[in-house]
Amino acid sequence: MTENKKHIAILGATGSIGTQALEVVDSNPERFVVEVLTAQNNADLLIEQAAKYTPNTVVIGNEALYDKVFSALDPLDIKVYSGENALSSVVQMEAIDIVLTALVGYAGLTPTIKAIEAGKHIALANKETLVVAGELIMKLAHEKGVNIYPVDSEHSAIFQCLVGEFQNPIEKIILTASGGPFRGKDKSYLEKVTKAQALKHPNWDMGAKITIDSATLMNKGLEVIEAKWLFGVAVNQIDVVVHPQSIIHSMVQFEDGSIKAQLGLPDMRLPIQFALGFPERLKNNYPRFSFVDYPNLTFEKPDTDTFRNLALAFEAINIGGNAPCVLNAANEVAVAEFLKDKISFLDIPRIVEECLNKIDVIDKPVLEDYINTDKETRIIALELVN
Ligand code: NAD
Ligand code: MG
Repeated sequence: MTENKKHIAILGATGSIGTQALEVVDSNPERFVVEVLTAQNNADLLIEQAAKYTPNTVVIGNEALYDKVFSALDPLDIKVYSGENALSSVVQMEAIDIVLTALVGYAGLTPTIKAIEAGKHIALANKETLVVAGELIMKLAHEKGVNIYPVDSEHSAIFQCLVGEFQNPIEKIILTASGGPFRGKDKSYLEKVTKAQALKHPNWDMGAKITIDSATLMNKGLEVIEAKWLFGVAVNQIDVVVHPQSIIHSMVQFEDGSIKAQLGLPDMRLPIQFALGFPERLKNNYPRFSFVDYPNLTFEKPDTDTFRNLALAFEAINIGGNAPCVLNAANEVAVAEFLKDKISFLDIPRIVEECLNKIDVIDKPVLEDYINTDKETRIIALELVN
């Protein structure tokens, strides 16, 4: 293997994070070799990306699209696989150093486990994996000597604040939240919001699921759980503060009261690059932040009465066991149904809350318990839709 070059697999290459990761590769082509690209349905873009980056292997999740992708890429000597299990085997390829998990939702869990088992470092965008099974994932990574580099901008900020401080205990993590498109609104307003309104995030251009999660504040709830596992802190050491400009990406307060923050324009290429390039900061020409352009950086308390999902996420992680897995599955179903115009915006927290109330808590879940909890919750959540 060439020194100084990182061999990467990108799961979810055609999405918001995946495409920006390829821009990171473009700005430092001498540092990265793309070994694997995967996508679920967007065969055209996957073919285009594969022709440009000539990975060893691609995976198209949707089996109906296999023939199309195979006939385009076989002449280029690129291996093509399809189906759910393919992800779990390709992440174990000898040549791979680091797997970027940029696929969305619970589907990230099994491939992430397989990659860690094979000793691959993880650049983790797929926060749902840590929400569902954070304890199991962190333990496995520790056993295998695998590093999990956060890609989520808040967690990257925290990680950047911690570099050089690993021996110093964290007193508090301060997660910043934009507040989403409905910041300052009340429940009577939220009752009537449409999918189109919820899909318009003020600061970030992201995939549909995380954009809805940002509008309901579930995204911040998932990030609280993600932070707990990544940084090994107690839930009461994590504060959420709304910062509508999304310039401070998060902060760490140490035991002497000093607070470190990481700042920059909202641009996911930075945290992606930091995760893939660590421990180096790679040079790039992305737009720079200027303080004089932002004379007002403001902060406020999140409104958890109106945005119930954030309170429910705190509740779930405080219950522990399989409760965050219930929270995640119920939310995935509710968001998907909202995106199909089957339910209203406020039905999302209603379904999440009812699922949390209905499902039996398992205190010390093993992998099989998570898999079963996810399945059962999805059935109950769908019943609540109808
Ligand atoms: P996206 O919807 O834009 O892209 C998802 C990618 O995953 C696509 O390539 C798609 O083909 C693939 N995919 C979808 N369903 C799949 C399945 N069942 N199996 C395999 N592959 C599947 O999503 P995104 O916004 O890029 O988000 C990806 C992950 O990164 C999410 O977990 C999200 O929470 C996290 N994240 C995203 C951002 C962002 O700015 N977009 C920021 C922080 C964290
Ligand atoms: Mg985030």
